[in-house]
This record gives sequence, structure tokens and C-alpha cells, in this order.
Amino acid sequence: MPLRFSAASDTGLVRSRNEDSFLLIPGRAGAFLAVADGIGGYKAGEVASRIATRTVGRMFREEGQAGPPDRQRLLQSFQTANQEILRARSRSPNPDEEMGTTLTCVWVEGRRCLAAHVGDSRLYRFRHGRLDQLTEDHSVVGELVRKGKVRREDAMSHPQRHLLTNALGLGSLLSVDVTEEDLGLGDVLLLCTDGLTGALTEEEISQVLRDGFDRAAERLVAEANRAGGGDNVTVVMVAIEASDIEKVADV
Ligand code: MN
Repeated sequence: MPLRFSAASDTGLVRSRNEDSFLLIPGRAGAFLAVADGIGGYKAGEVASRIATRTVGRMFREEGQAGPPDRQRLLQSFQTANQEILRARSRSPNPDEEMGTTLTCVWVEGRRCLAAHVGDSRLYRFRHGRLDQLTEDHSVVGELVRKGKVRREDAMSHPQRHLLTNALGLGSLLSVDVTEEDLGLGDVLLLCTDGLTGALTEEEISQVLRDGFDRAAERLVAEANRAGGGDNVTVVMVAIEASDIEKVADV
């Protein structure tokens, strides 16, 4: 099945550095996509998010030779990224200072995808004009929403929305969500940092996607900046398209 891609990352209008990182590796059998949003003081967040995407990317490239990544390989690459961030922190001039990152990635192959996730970046599936969040936010507010104590539409403006309950670089015990989903023709997978979901509602994101896939990531980043651009914003997307044979079969 042919895949199309769209990706964009921007510092926004308020921050001085972009501490988000992303990865987009089209392969022979499928594609690997990842986003990470760094946490920490001067340069620490940037270092952490780059270590995270670089480490999972390395796993993909090595495994790409031997075959597609599986659940175990993905989990292992998250643990390795976590260890490398803890090591970088211990070697930094300010080891007491926080250095962490979110990490959300997805391996797409044929009609299935395998996702791994830590933190409050998100993976969405856009299908038939509807956006579905496939990951859970590992944040204080995310937990309150799941317990029904905060309404989904109020989460964006909640004062504790930035407090994470799970991230890479916080400790040696890391718990990772791994999920598998079926995909259909026309589906779009969207990975983003909270710079997008903090600026735009899911309905606003859906409206941009309904206008088509061309330059959709750039258009979403522009919309987030128009809404204030208060945070770094990163969007990476893949669209599952029909091959010529499948298009004929559909007629
Ligand atoms: Mn952010």
C-alpha cells in the first residue's frame, strides 16, 4: 500500500528554542514515525528529545535490515533511550536539573500499525473525517479526564496540564504503552506534540485535515501559531493510500 507523508516542526512565537524532535523514516516494507517533546532547563529538553528520536531511529534502521520491528524491539529501544538520557543527565554540568522527554512512535506496515508511547504527545487516527486519539496522555490532567473529574474540553486550559506522570529520563523504571491498530485505505495517522493540541481543539485539527493531505502538517503548525504559538509545535503524518490495483478493485 503506498504511503504519503507530511511533517513540520516550529519553535512557535514565544519560546526561544525548539525542544521538540521528530523522525520520519520511509522504508521498503513500511514507515517509522516518531515525535518527542523535551523537558528541562537550558538545552536539557532539546538534548533529551534528540537522544530519544535518535535511539528509536537507530533501532529501526538496524532492524530494518533484519525485518520489521516488533513489540519487544520497540520496548527495548525505549528502555535504551531512557538509559541514555539518564546517563546524559548525570554527565551534564547540572545533574540536579530535570532532563526528560515524551516519546510517541509508530511503525506502519500494510494494514496494521504498532505504536509505543510515553508522555503527553499524541497519536491520532483520522478516518472518515473523524479524529480518534489512540494514545492516553500520561499527565495529571489526562488521569483526571479518564476518571471523569475534568471534562475533555476543559483539559486544554487546566493549570496542571503540563505536569507529566510518565516520561523518559525521570527514573530507571519506565512503563511504556504499546498498542496495535488496524488501518484502512484513506486512514491518516497523526503524531503531534502538545504544542498542537494545546493550541487547537480536535475539531479545529479535523477541519484542517478535511481540506486534504497536501501540506497538512505545515497548515496545522501555521494554525497553532495563529492561535498564539505559545509552545514548540511538531506534527508528523502518514496517509495510507490505495494502490492503482486497489483503486481499480474499488470501482
Ligand atoms: Mn510542548
